[in-house]
Amino acid sequence: MNSWWEYVGDYLGYPKCCREAFQTEDYRTRPVRKLDGTGYVPCAECDRKSVDDLIATINSNRKAVAPFPEFPDEECDLVYEQYLKQGE
Ligand SMILES: [Zn+2]
Repeated sequence: MNSWWEYVGDYLGYPKCCREAFQTEDYRTRPVRKLDGTGYVPCAECDRKSVDDLIATINSNRKAVAPFPEFPDEECDLVYEQYLKQGE
């Protein structure tokens, strides 16, 4: 079973390279990247792209109903229930 971060990151449309970097990079030494505060942290590579490009990529891969960077608590709760069910 994937970790919750992997699962929800995929659901939210975050690129795989960024999801992996998010889990392996040390957040204490990581520089502040684009879209800070949205919940999405680009990897060093993606941080070179424009904010418009990043948002377009995320929204085209996104399974969430609400467009980036929105992710209402109710939808998060539903996704978490689905996540738990795949482990059954
Ligand atoms: Zn990336």
